[in-house]
Amino acid sequence: MQKLWDVLIIGAGPAGGLAALDCAKKGLRVMLVEQRSFPRWKVCGCCFNNQAQAILSSRGENNLIEECGGQTLDRLRLGLRGREATLALPNGFVLSRERFDQALIEAAIKAGASARFRMTAHVEAASPGYRRVRLKDHHSGNTSHVNARVVLVAAGLSQHCLPKNEAGQSRVRKQSRHGAGCVVDDDTNHYPSGAIHMAIGDQGYVGLVRREDGLLNLAGAFDRDALSQGQGTMDAAHQILKQAGFPVPQALQGGQRWQLTAALSRHSNVVAGERFLVMGDAAGYVEPFTGEGMAWALTAGAAAAPFVLEGMERWTRNLEKRWKTTLQVHIGRRQTVCKALSSVLKRPATTAVLFEVVKRWPSVSESIVSSLNKEKLPSPQGDPCL
Ligand SMILES: Cc1cc2nc3c(=O)[nH]c(=O)nc-3n(C[C@H](O)[C@H](O)[C@H](O)COP(=O)(O)OP(=O)(O)OC[C@H]3O[C@@H](n4cnc5c(N)ncnc54)[C@H](O)[C@@H]3O)c2cc1C
Repeated sequence: MQKLWDVLIIGAGPAGGLAALDCAKKGLRVMLVEQRSFPRWKVCGCCFNNQAQAILSSRGENNLIEECGGQTLDRLRLGLRGREATLALPNGFVLSRERFDQALIEAAIKAGASARFRMTAHVEAASPGYRRVRLKDHHSGNTSHVNARVVLVAAGLSQHCLPKNEAGQSRVRKQSRHGAGCVVDDDTNHYPSGAIHMAIGDQGYVGLVRREDGLLNLAGAFDRDALSQGQGTMDAAHQILKQAGFPVPQALQGGQRWQLTAALSRHSNVVAGERFLVMGDAAGYVEPFTGEGMAWALTAGAAAAPFVLEGMERWTRNLEKRWKTTLQVHIGRRQTVCKALSSVLKRPATTAVLFEVVKRWPSVSESIVSSLNKEKLPSPQGDPCL
């Protein structure tokens, strides 16, 4: 394996995949390292909004989602205490993470990136002009080292790949909900394609979408207390669906295994350091009600290349500062809206008021959806305030 890379990217989710694609297209020597074997399933609602598509189009991947069989998504169906409200969702798509993440990595490899799977990366001490990264191969058990002028940490929600003295703290928001999800084979017609079916309960919410292969994807956010009662996630999910007035899919009643995530709402106080940048969920995340996480991750991935090019020549504190501002301008502001919404959804009384607004004045909520859907592309020059 080559020993010095221009950029080494840790994590092959949307943030790492897009950064690999963009850097490879700019002629950089890119190494992407992923600890799992691909394609892989991940807890996610699998919904893509307008911003996610705008980022892909800006990198020449206009048709990636449709070519993978992505299904059009045009409405959000909310269920609360047996009542329903529907909102229009312009320009949405559903595509399984197995297909999407794999397709993005294939595009990056086609553009010249190298990728290694089933390999865990850990960043070691900085040296003048490069960072040393330790790689552990899961197949052989062997450990090796490579160097990179810049490292991009796109390792997801609970990343542990930076040295302790440089990683800073990932601050978890008080009472943050936990994510959980599963996929089931459900052929009833309660959950048709084209909609996100969002069941809202007292202790969380569950979104159900029909994937391109006909399977039903479930992903939700749950209060921690709810997960520790009875049979954990399964009971909590059944409870939420029943409270919302949605039927529990037959396949779920057989004890389907749910995959859990760490606490969702968190913020990392270190998003850049000597020759590394942090991006995607690894830099901070807010509960998934608005379904924007992949758009945030893709946006950060698309913003990275100018910083990598500049940092390869000369790494400065100013560059680190501008990266932080870029994340704040492009992602932090969008996360603020999502944060406010997640606070509302934690209280049954405010949730009921919000539901009433959506039901009676759909135009108000549709204008919020359209503001969340507004495209904003990162600057090609690494200028944070474009
Ligand atoms: C319940 C739920 C529902 C959601 N619904 C939606 C939705 O509908 N729409 C949407 O846009 N977003 C949604 N999201 C958010 C979305 O899933 C994430 O925001 C998105 O996957 C973040 O991308 P990422 O590239 O930062 O990280 P990830 O997609 O998590 O990828 C990180 C990768 O890094 C790898 N990795 C970690 N550590 C290492 C290491 N040391 N070495 C090598 N590899 C490593 C991991 O294996 C992983 O593959 C949802 C999230 C949850 C929890």
